[in-house]
Amino acid sequence: MAERSGWDRTGARCDVRSGNETSRSRVRATIFDFMLGAIVGDIIGSVHEHAGTRTKDFPLFTPQSFFTDDTVLTVAVADWILTGADLVDLLHEYTDAYPGRGYGLMYDRWVRRRSREPYNSFGNGSAMRVGPIGFAYDTIEDVLTWAERSAAVTHNHPEGIRGAQAAAAAIFWARRTRDRNEIRLKLEANFGYDLDFTLDSIRSTYRFNETCQGTVPQALIAFLESTSYEDAVRNAISLGGDADTLACITGGIAEAYYGGVPAEILGPGLKLLDERLTAVVNRFRERFLPA
Ligand SMILES: [Mg+2]
Repeated sequence: MAERSGWDRTGARCDVRSGNETSRSRVRATIFDFMLGAIVGDIIGSVHEHAGTRTKDFPLFTPQSFFTDDTVLTVAVADWILTGADLVDLLHEYTDAYPGRGYGLMYDRWVRRRSREPYNSFGNGSAMRVGPIGFAYDTIEDVLTWAERSAAVTHNHPEGIRGAQAAAAAIFWARRTRDRNEIRLKLEANFGYDLDFTLDSIRSTYRFNETCQGTVPQALIAFLESTSYEDAVRNAISLGGDADTLACITGGIAEAYYGGVPAEILGPGLKLLDERLTAVVNRFRERFLPA
């Protein structure tokens, strides 16, 4: 097994070499920062959307960093899992409560019309909000079922469903295996994405893309090529695309795989959440922490 890194509960970095150590470290770190990798990824990416950033060298946080629609709707899905409330109502409510956070045009129109019908979207919104499902369920069947349900109220196009399922499954598998290539093969076999490319090979030509099929494979590669949580998020943002959403999807997977978000990254990110979002995140963590 290759040398890997993790963080203990205090956020102190520790090198992890054996399988047992990896497992112990993962559990500790997971208790510390369960489900926050997606949210922090969104916040780090927030100032890079439409900025054309094509480097991994940038400050993680700036005075302008903020949580975007990705965080709001990820928390809405966590709330849905926790309370069993109607997901359409929750999406409407959360979007009303946090206006102007960068929602897609069709989605925003769907909310304002109080529509309850899906609009056949294959936008990456279904993949950006699905993170909690990858953490909450303990079988791949449940993960796929609930990922589809979470997507289908708006993103009922097959690509919208596929993107959500692949992003959630990647988190689920990242929680369970140390073998990154196994995750890659499972993603290719189950979802049919071509993951045979590198970030370097697409960086100069990749363009802003809000579709699942133009975002999810790239986010998966950003994780698969990474060496740490921070490196994964930097990878995602370096593509110069829909940076907050790429970093949100990649960040959730990386958190699951590396066993957490380092404290020095987590702290500044979480400070930007308000009380309501923080409360839901904390309830979710309490409910789904590994025993
Ligand atoms: Mg966003």
